[in-house]
Amino acid sequence: MNGSRCEELVGKLYQLLDGEITEGQAEYLQDHLEECGACLERLGVEMHFTMLLKARCRQDAACPDKLLVSIRDALHAEIKLQ
Ligand SMILES: [Zn+2]
Repeated sequence: MNGSRCEELVGKLYQLLDGEITEGQAEYLQDHLEECGACLERLGVEMHFTMLLKARCRQDAACPDKLLVSIRDALHAEIKLQ
């Protein structure tokens, strides 16, 4: 059981996606992902979503933060339901 590490990692996950994480933290995250399928799966979903969003924002100069937040909230709700 490494639930508490997973909780910690979820927070770092968002920082990573926002590019607000240090190299050391990114390594810690990667180490954990290599041994935790649950987090790896979650990261896959988040990454996919964020990359889609970023690709879209690049085409559209006006990319409101509110949109990003609402999508993340929806994503969070979905993960909790599973
Ligand atoms: Zn984990």
